[in-house]
Amino acid sequence: MATNPAIAAEGKTILGHPRGLFVLFFAEMWERFSYYGMRALLIFYLTKHWLFSDGDASLIYGAYTSLVYITPVLGGYLADRYLGQRKAVLFGAVVLTLGHFLMAFEGTGGQGDPTISIFWLALAFIIVGSGFLKGNISVIVGQLYPRTDVRRDGAYTIFYMGINLGSFFGVLIAGFLGETYGWSYGFGAAGVGMLLGLLVFIWGRPLLMNRAEPPAPERLRERVAGVPFEWLLYGLGLVAIAIIWALVQYQQVVGTLLLISGLALFGYIGFTAVRQLPRDDRDRIFAILFLLLLQPVFWGLFEQAGAGVNLFTDRHVDRNFFGYEIPTTWFQSVNAAFIILLGPVFASLWTSLGRRGIEPSTPAKFGLAIVQVGLGFLALVWGAQAFGSQNMTPMILIVFLYLLHTTGELCLSPVGLSAMNRLAPRHMAGLIMGAWFFATAGGNFVAGQISAATGAENAESGEGAKELFLNVWTTVGWTAVGIGVVVLVLAPFVKRLMHLDTLQDERMAGTPELAEPIAPSPNTNGETVPGKA
Ligand code: GLN
Repeated sequence: MATNPAIAAEGKTILGHPRGLFVLFFAEMWERFSYYGMRALLIFYLTKHWLFSDGDASLIYGAYTSLVYITPVLGGYLADRYLGQRKAVLFGAVVLTLGHFLMAFEGTGGQGDPTISIFWLALAFIIVGSGFLKGNISVIVGQLYPRTDVRRDGAYTIFYMGINLGSFFGVLIAGFLGETYGWSYGFGAAGVGMLLGLLVFIWGRPLLMNRAEPPAPERLRERVAGVPFEWLLYGLGLVAIAIIWALVQYQQVVGTLLLISGLALFGYIGFTAVRQLPRDDRDRIFAILFLLLLQPVFWGLFEQAGAGVNLFTDRHVDRNFFGYEIPTTWFQSVNAAFIILLGPVFASLWTSLGRRGIEPSTPAKFGLAIVQVGLGFLALVWGAQAFGSQNMTPMILIVFLYLLHTTGELCLSPVGLSAMNRLAPRHMAGLIMGAWFFATAGGNFVAGQISAATGAENAESGEGAKELFLNVWTTVGWTAVGIGVVVLVLAPFVKRLMHLDTLQDERMAGTPELAEPIAPSPNTNGETVPGKA
C-alpha cells in the first residue's frame, strides 16, 4: 500500500487513518454539538418563549429541520462545480457560527416582540450554513482515500462516532444551560461549539492534503461584474439567507417546495437512468429510488424526538431520579449514547451474519428499521397505558423508545449512506448523496406534521392531551409496522435490482459503514477488508 503515492502523502497516521480524518471528525463533532444542542431546546423555545401553540411550533420545527437537509443538495452542487468542498465547508462553518450566535438574541419573547425577526434570521443562517457544510464535509471524508481503499468504510464509522459524540455533549451542555440559566446561555453554548469547529477546520487545513480544493481555481478568480467569481458565489449564499428568512416563516410553502422539488429531483434521476444508463446501472437507480422513498417514513417518526416526544417528556414523564429532576432535553442524548454503545455491536453483528451468508439485504434492513421505529412508539403507548394514562409515565419507557429508534437508525442510516455510495454510478454520486439528504428532509417535514397532530388541542390545558399523543402515536406506530412488513416482503425483489453480482470494485451485500470497524484484516473470501482489529 505504501507504494501508492496518494497513501504515501498521508505521512503519519492515527489508528491507521490519515490525520485529516480527525480534523473532519472534530470539526463535524462540534458542528453536530451545536446542531443537536440547539434542536433539543428549539421546540421549548418556540412554545415557552415565543408562545407558539404546539401545532404551530411543530410545523416550524418540521420546516426548519427539513430546510436544513434540503440545502445540502445546492451546497453539494456549488462545491462539485466551482468551490471545491473545503471552501464550501469553511464558508458554511462561518455562516453557522453567526447563526448560532444570532440565536442568543432572545428579546422579551411572546408573539408581539419584534426580536423574533432575529430568530428567523438565525434559523436562515443555520439552514444555509448547513447547506454548505453538512454534505460536503461527509464527501471530504471519502476524498482522503483512493477509490478502492479498504479503509473508507472504517473512516465513515469513525466519522459517525464523531457526529454522535457531538450530539451527546451538545444536548447535555446546551440543554442544561438553556433549561437552567436561560435560552441565550444554551444557544450561546451551541455558538461556542460551532466556533471551535470552525477553528479546528482552519487549523487542520494542511492535513486535508489539498484533496478538496476547487476543480478550476482560475475560474474562481475571474472577475464577473468587477468582483471575483468566488465572492459572487458567497454573495449567492447571502441571497439564499434572505430568501430562506422569508420562507421559514411560511411553513406550508416549505411543504409545497419539498413536493415539487422532490418530484423534479426523482423525475430527473429516473429519467436519466432510463435514457442514459445500461440495464444493471438503471436497475440500481430504481433500487435507490425505492430506498429513498422509505426515508420520509422512517425520519418522520424518528424526528419526533425533538418535537412531540420532547413535549411529551416535558409534560407527562416522571423525570425524577432519586430526588433529582432530570432536564427534559437530556433525554435527547440517549439516542447518541446508544449509537456510540451499539454501533460496534451492530458492526460485528453484520459481519458475523455476513460470514454465515445470512446478513439481511439493504432493503430488508430498511424494512426492519421501519418496523422498529413503529414498535418504539407502540411500546411507549402500551407502557404508558399499563401505568395508567392519568399517571405520569415512567422515564424508562422513553429510554426504551429511544433504544428501539436507535437500533432502527443503525439498520437504516449508515446502511443507506453506504448503499448510495455503492449503487450510484460514479458520475451521479454527488447527486445521489444530495438526494439522500433531501429524502431525509421529507422525513423532517412529515415529523412536523405528525407532531402538529399531537398538539391539535393545546396539551398544556391538561385533560385529554396525553390521550391525544397516545392516539396519534398508535396510528403512526401501526402504520410504520405495516409499511415495514411490506418492505420486508418486497426486499428480495429490490435486492435483485441491486445486481450485487456485477458490482465491480466493491464487496457484496448491504454492509454499512458501521459494520466496518477500523483496522484492515483478511475476510473469509481472502480479500482485505476493514475488520476487527
Ligand atoms: N444523525 C445523523 C447526523 O446527524 C443522521 C441524520 C440524518 O441523516 N437525518 O448526521
